[in-house]
Amino acid sequence: MKVLKFGGSSLASAASIKLVRAIIKHQAIQQKIWVVVSASGKTTDNLVNLTQLAHVKDESYKTELKLLEQHHITICKELLTIGAQTSVISFIKSSCNILEQLLDAVYWLEDLSPKTQDKIISFGELLSAHILEKIVSQEIESTQYKDSRNLIKTNSHFTKAKVDFNLTNENVKLFEANNKAQVTILGGFISANKNQETTTLGRGGSDYSAAIYAAALDAEVLEIWTDVSGLYTTNPKLVKQAKPIANISYEEAMELSHFGAKVIYPPTIKPVLEKEIPIKIKNTFDSNAEGTIISNSSNGKHQTIKGISHIEGISLLTLEGLGMIGIHGISKRLFEVLADNHINIVMITQASSEHSICIAVAKENSKNAEQLINNVFKNEISEHLIQPIIVENDLAILAVVGDQMKSHQGVSGTLFSALGSNNINIRAIAQGASEKNISCVIKSNNVKKALNCIHAAFFEAHIKELNVFIAGVGNVGGKLISQLQQQQAYLKEALNLNVKIVGVANSKQYYINENGLNNSDWQANLSKKKENNDVSYYDAIAALNKQNSVFVDVTANEGVANSYADLLRKSISVVACNKIACSSDYNDYKELKYLAKKYKASFLYETNVGAGLPIIKTVQNLISSGDQITEIQAVLSGSLNFIFNEYTNGELFSTIVKKAQDEGYTEPDPRIDLSGKDVARKILILIREAGTRIEFEAIKNNPMLPKGSLEAASVNDFYSLIKAENEHFKKLLLEAKKQDSKLKYVASYKDGRASVGLQFIPKGHPFYNLEGKDNIVSFYTNRYQEQPLIIKGAGAGADVTASGLFADIIQIGSAS
Ligand code: ADP
Ligand code: ASP
Ligand code: MG
Repeated sequence: MKVLKFGGSSLASAASIKLVRAIIKHQAIQQKIWVVVSASGKTTDNLVNLTQLAHVKDESYKTELKLLEQHHITICKELLTIGAQTSVISFIKSSCNILEQLLDAVYWLEDLSPKTQDKIISFGELLSAHILEKIVSQEIESTQYKDSRNLIKTNSHFTKAKVDFNLTNENVKLFEANNKAQVTILGGFISANKNQETTTLGRGGSDYSAAIYAAALDAEVLEIWTDVSGLYTTNPKLVKQAKPIANISYEEAMELSHFGAKVIYPPTIKPVLEKEIPIKIKNTFDSNAEGTIISNSSNGKHQTIKGISHIEGISLLTLEGLGMIGIHGISKRLFEVLADNHINIVMITQASSEHSICIAVAKENSKNAEQLINNVFKNEISEHLIQPIIVENDLAILAVVGDQMKSHQGVSGTLFSALGSNNINIRAIAQGASEKNISCVIKSNNVKKALNCIHAAFFEAHIKELNVFIAGVGNVGGKLISQLQQQQAYLKEALNLNVKIVGVANSKQYYINENGLNNSDWQANLSKKKENNDVSYYDAIAALNKQNSVFVDVTANEGVANSYADLLRKSISVVACNKIACSSDYNDYKELKYLAKKYKASFLYETNVGAGLPIIKTVQNLISSGDQITEIQAVLSGSLNFIFNEYTNGELFSTIVKKAQDEGYTEPDPRIDLSGKDVARKILILIREAGTRIEFEAIKNNPMLPKGSLEAASVNDFYSLIKAENEHFKKLLLEAKKQDSKLKYVASYKDGRASVGLQFIPKGHPFYNLEGKDNIVSFYTNRYQEQPLIIKGAGAGADVTASGLFADIIQIGSAS
């Protein structure tokens, strides 16, 4: 025979109960079964809530109770014939009448004992089991309901009663001996003491009831039917990549569930483990899925780590003081007072110096624990030997679990480096003496990120997820998005990188989709938004708290550049196309590099100079290999090169500038190019990368435009003003031609001095034939003294700039 347990989620609606009925039908054909049920959906939570409302004199419990009644009646109406409905609906109504009287009593007496609480919440399972019995018996005649309170006998510790196994096993065996029904339906979670008063086995206890029955009946298997396809490597609601574990040992399942994998209630394991009855975890909503088998033969021996679980709502209490060193009995007094007051300790750590002990307890116990401990040590505290206990809230415990952990080195190394490189601070660490788990305490708001990065480190070692947030979706930004989307499959396949674009923003609004934007939706979603978002883009990125986050700045905006420091401090890497950060104050530039190192993030800006050309990387490689750069000669403005190459004769200078802007070869404001400011920023960045401290003002700028035109109020005004300069440029062009030269805007650096300006470049010079929007840089170094190292190629344009950004992003993904 088999015992099947269906959880609240499986009984939440008429639709899911239909699935339950089909599973029962299928199984009952093959053998006799016992079916243990939880309350429907969130009914137990709702009953707890109703009781609290009544207790604090909030009359809304009455309307809430009506909703609860209606919920159950609706299920009956949908699944039962009219004839069958009457008796169950009258059972539901009379149960709700009793509930109302109990709640009224709590309301008027302003008193709520654990005994009353148990009486009230037991109605969840009483209702669900009665309803299911009626629904199943419509199709399987040999179905009967049995009240668990007549079988499972406990002590009188209401809300978490202890089972009297001798009595219970005897009751179950006796009942089964005369039980002819093919399907027996029982409520889980509920039980009774010797006086036949209702008790409960603790929240989540239906699993336990089912295990008690399975053990007493020597069932061949205990099946736990829930809303996920087994026990997963971690909670699948928080980590999309989590996978069901096919086989797991009782011990491993126990550790995982102790630390919060709530698919199975930890005490469940004990009764079935003693009899070696396997537990199967199955999905009601996908009954063909394999699920998980929990048994003695965990097979999967090659796997060091089986799963990761977590518990939220943890408080950490730290007892510290020099007076603790070498004194016997401190821990004993500490643990005794908590045990005497039924406060469960979830985790313990003690520093080897013995002057501090840390314990983790559930948040709801922390106030009480604090007072109890301070009271126990009041003498030591008043003598300043021990400090009053320190309490930290809003924490969570994470545990990695595996039977094979003790024989493998490096588990904790992998765990802590995954957390460290994602800027997740660990408050306390403990390793179970059995070496089947390592657990650590972290802030609650880091749980999702921590689970994802630890999961990636242990289970997806081959695939690394990068979460990309783009600011600026104009020409270059748009190209970058399409390049990333187009290459997504290739990156996964060839580089084991899962690059997800999670956020996009323009100057007015942003759009974020945690699961990654797909091809078509981001533009529509971004433009749909008329209003500014309430929270800034940066705050929204930080709040998402994703592992391996990368912020890509494809704007030319100072405000965006000012955000880098804060992002880096949160271990969010920055890829900048925007040159402002690297060309502003030297100390700020250095600070960003320092922050990147400190917070294990990357700060990359290859596209600051020469768009997609590998110029900055080359300088960095020269320097790190011990070379020294002595001189740089360069044409660094694709825009100016384009303009002067187009300007041969015929069209007016001003017309060509406009054309360059329209084709996306200039900065959004072409004055930045024509003033030489853009080129000055670029040579500044190269000099800094070469290891020299230099400020923008030190770069000599030989202007080619009269000052007035650069001070125009708007880009349009500027165009009207440079029309007046057409004559001036025509003269320059004629002069260049006369000297058999071309006009090139050149940046130079030598002997600590740098300048930018328009030059006549004679025929034969390497820069003379520089075409289109190309850039060229010649580096003279200690190693390249005679013949410079030259990098040349397209230095502007949306496609090449986007591919430079792409390369930076991939570089972050490839870093370990
Ligand atoms: P039921 O209503 O069937 O009792 P529960 O809500 O108690 O179901 O337990 C199932 C839930 O446990 C899943 O929906 C999932 O969110 C959560 N869970 C937490 N950790 C894990 C894990 N490691 N594997 C599977 N589910 C998990
Ligand atoms: N209904 C109870 C609870 O929600 C028991 C269970 O579902 O396991 O805690
Ligand atoms: Mg459960």
